[in-house]
Amino acid sequence: MNCLRFVPILMLAAGTALAQAPAVLKADASKPEPPVTVKSFDLSAIDKTADPCTDFYQYSCGNWVKTNPIPSDQVRWARSFSLVRERNRYLLWEELHAAAKAPKTPLQKQYGDFYAACMDTDQVEKKGLAPIQPAWEAIAKLADARQLPALLSKLENQGTPDGFFEFGVSQDDKDSSQQIAEIGQGGLSLPDRDYYTVDSARFKAIRAQYVEHLKKMFTLAGDKPEQAEKEAAAVMEIETALAKVSTSRTDLRDPTNRYHIYTVADFEKLAPSFDWSGYFTAIGIGKFDTLNVATPNFFKALSGLITSEPLESWKSYLRWQVLHGQARNLPKAYFDENFDFFSRTLSGQKEPEARWKQCSSMTDRALGEAVGQDWVKENFPPAAKESMDKLVAALEKSLGDDIRTLPWMTEPTRKAAEEKLGMIRNKIGYPEKWRDYSSVKVDRTDLIGNEHASAVYERNYNYAKLGKPVDEKEWGMTPPTVNAYYDPSFNDINFPAGILQPPFFDFKVDPAVNFGGIGVVIGHEMTHGFDDEGSQYDGKGNLREWQTAADRKAFTERTDCEVAEYGSFEAAPAKGDTPAQKLNGKLTLGENTADNGGLRIAYMALLDTLAGQGKTISDKIGGYTEAQRYFIGFAQVWCQNQTDQASRQAALVDPHSPGKWRVNGSVQNFDEFGKAFGCTKGQPMYPASSCRVW
Ligand SMILES: [Zn+2]
Repeated sequence: MNCLRFVPILMLAAGTALAQAPAVLKADASKPEPPVTVKSFDLSAIDKTADPCTDFYQYSCGNWVKTNPIPSDQVRWARSFSLVRERNRYLLWEELHAAAKAPKTPLQKQYGDFYAACMDTDQVEKKGLAPIQPAWEAIAKLADARQLPALLSKLENQGTPDGFFEFGVSQDDKDSSQQIAEIGQGGLSLPDRDYYTVDSARFKAIRAQYVEHLKKMFTLAGDKPEQAEKEAAAVMEIETALAKVSTSRTDLRDPTNRYHIYTVADFEKLAPSFDWSGYFTAIGIGKFDTLNVATPNFFKALSGLITSEPLESWKSYLRWQVLHGQARNLPKAYFDENFDFFSRTLSGQKEPEARWKQCSSMTDRALGEAVGQDWVKENFPPAAKESMDKLVAALEKSLGDDIRTLPWMTEPTRKAAEEKLGMIRNKIGYPEKWRDYSSVKVDRTDLIGNEHASAVYERNYNYAKLGKPVDEKEWGMTPPTVNAYYDPSFNDINFPAGILQPPFFDFKVDPAVNFGGIGVVIGHEMTHGFDDEGSQYDGKGNLREWQTAADRKAFTERTDCEVAEYGSFEAAPAKGDTPAQKLNGKLTLGENTADNGGLRIAYMALLDTLAGQGKTISDKIGGYTEAQRYFIGFAQVWCQNQTDQASRQAALVDPHSPGKWRVNGSVQNFDEFGKAFGCTKGQPMYPASSCRVW
């Protein structure tokens, strides 16, 4: 559900393969270890041999990068994000572990049992494929492609996700007070359509390995080799056909490309081989007359494929979707094979995460606002919220000042921008009202059954929104999450308690470092309201142009500058026969704009704060000026190591630039940086001309 929304977040895109490293299914010898604390301003991370004016990332992070290799169970290791994530997860584990042993409340019993079921690998082995057999039996009975809608709705009602599209309820892009049905493309197992369609040696090799993986999984499940080979070919053929008619991630970032209101009757004419009315009735969502079809071409082509592909191929494809969807929760043989291809081959992960880590994350995903209630009691004091309120107000003022003084904007647009800024709402820490999970039946011995129950709950929760007033207090991330987001339809910025921790948010350090950390994060989220995507929505969250035509033109000239600039950065260097990979300047434009804006307005807020304390930006602490500490504090949020495979995958699927370019791209576009470090105009980090949007 909800996969159709394109909500800009701070870090890795949610739901990418990178964010879902699977668990280990062997008896787990590794004992959870207490977390390390991360310094907010870390002199030992600095590479003093590097020139900050040539490569500021290398200067701020070089020594950390050199001395902190990627742990074998990760594909990306980031000084702030990964370490805080590990710390939060450890604290979560303590809570889950205690609840699983001796629950004190009904809520603790529920999430304790969920966690315990995940940890019980003996049960997982004993059950074998039994938990997915009912779905496979239903698929085996498919006698005619016309029965597909009935079959898919039946699977979905039991907690198996939709096979080849994404369906759910979302705010109407043009009337954010309404919640409407929305449908979009889906059905690919590899991370992006390019994996199926791009004609390069690297992708050809990955495709061949994927087919081998399909064969192995079908064989493990009991199919004869010839049969497994046939099924693998059918899956590859259908997924490739779907990939060819999928809209690119870059094009989908533009909200106008994904907004096409259809009546149900017209949608049925567009894709006549599938009984949509029958499907919508069978999934129990309730009646509606119109829906947003995000990707009409996909559904037109899907309809053609339903009639042209043999029935046996569809059955193989659906069997695969069910098997693949639960592979991580099946016995070790399936788990290992799934890990080997999706994590080791595609992402370069050497070994799975410890079971306790995966089960903690899984429980957080399924029952996040149950677990989170107890988590915030321990880890988010009321004083933290008060401090955040003050910081957000300081950043709002700065962005307002920035909008008032922008050189390229005319008065009517300036007024509209200020109006939108004034309407941004802030959500800090955790929800005011917690979700009620009482309908999720959790069985201490049934991992996949619990996952199904959770999926049905999420689906019903989403479907119940149809036609109802919008709940502005709803959260899209759980409290322990180390991330933040801006939602263009809500026009709100959201900071879970999980990111409001050191080194992002730390009141033991000087304001310069804090503004470089959480200050830039707040500024980043606010700027999303005004990036190439967010700026197409007004203050009420409606897709409506509020810039004059001339201002929109000036805006686009400025964003084009960033597209070209970031498009020239290298996401992964050449390796052997594989050529270097450049960043996609268009895919990352919104995030780059937000990074640039965030760095600028947090700096302005710092100037104000220092002035209020009778200090200046040139005052020194520990050998660095306030300005230098601000920029180093900012850069050190992004120190990271990443496998080559994960870097290449991220360049295709992740709208965020890698840490190096989040730092260097932002500082080279902000002259205050060059001044702070005494750089000479024309040096790489202080170029003669640079890009600026906000
Ligand atoms: Zn972002």
